[in-house]
Amino acid sequence: MQITLLGTGSPMPAPDRAGPSTLVTAGDENLLVDAGRGVLMRLAACGVGAPDLAAVLLTHLHSDHLTDLNDVITTRWVMTFEPTPLTIVGPPGTEVVVDAILRSLEPDVGYRIAHHDDLVEGPLIEVIEVADGEIELGTATQISCAPTDHRPVEPSIGFRIEHGDAVVVAAGDTVPCDGLDRLCAGADALVHTVIRKDIIATLPFQRIKDTLDYHSSPEEAAQTAHRAGVGTLVLTHYVPPIAPGTEDEWRALAGEHFSGEIALGDDLLVVPVGGGD
Ligand SMILES: [Zn+2]
Ligand SMILES: [Zn+2]
Repeated sequence: MQITLLGTGSPMPAPDRAGPSTLVTAGDENLLVDAGRGVLMRLAACGVGAPDLAAVLLTHLHSDHLTDLNDVITTRWVMTFEPTPLTIVGPPGTEVVVDAILRSLEPDVGYRIAHHDDLVEGPLIEVIEVADGEIELGTATQISCAPTDHRPVEPSIGFRIEHGDAVVVAAGDTVPCDGLDRLCAGADALVHTVIRKDIIATLPFQRIKDTLDYHSSPEEAAQTAHRAGVGTLVLTHYVPPIAPGTEDEWRALAGEHFSGEIALGDDLLVVPVGGGD
């Protein structure tokens, strides 16, 4: 398996960090976790197109994690020459959001169907809402989920993705919690979103400080990884964006609580997981 950090940014636009999204490659299956700003540009850099996605997995319905889902839907539809449903897995509420996106795309879908003789119907989407447990997708990769704690954003979920002997967990945005600990047990890699609470707490903006109570710091992500016996901790969703040359500072904060490998960096960072794939 392989993890590619497609977008390591956050709601704050940054010129070189796309919005939150991660590609998990399991054998020949491409699983997209979240679909933030610029996701298809970053996927293109990996040689992966919207038609190549086995499924889109949404951790929660915060806009920064799905702002380009409409682009994934449209591009999958237009670039696929045999109608192939796009499977979107997410927490309860996903269906309402996807329906609204499809409604917003109705004029475009109408134009394209009118113009192209071989396009006779709109995007085919299969939404699967999940809260806890195994997810049946018909993929070779086993996927399960558990509730995370990103309150007041509810519900939110993390995913455990298993292929052969390798296990990757995508936590999404969460504070440490039992559901995440359960997902992470013995995982080879944990992809965890983080914010630097030591920095954010000093800012004079209450709206930004409000984010402290529903995110994990690098230290908290490391504690989760340590508790669960994770092999590699992959940090992403850097708030604030990592200033050039300060990567080791972030790594050191996590390293106080976790002795395994710690990966962080720029968009398109690749982290191999397990052997064989
Ligand atoms: Zn969030
Ligand atoms: Zn977020």
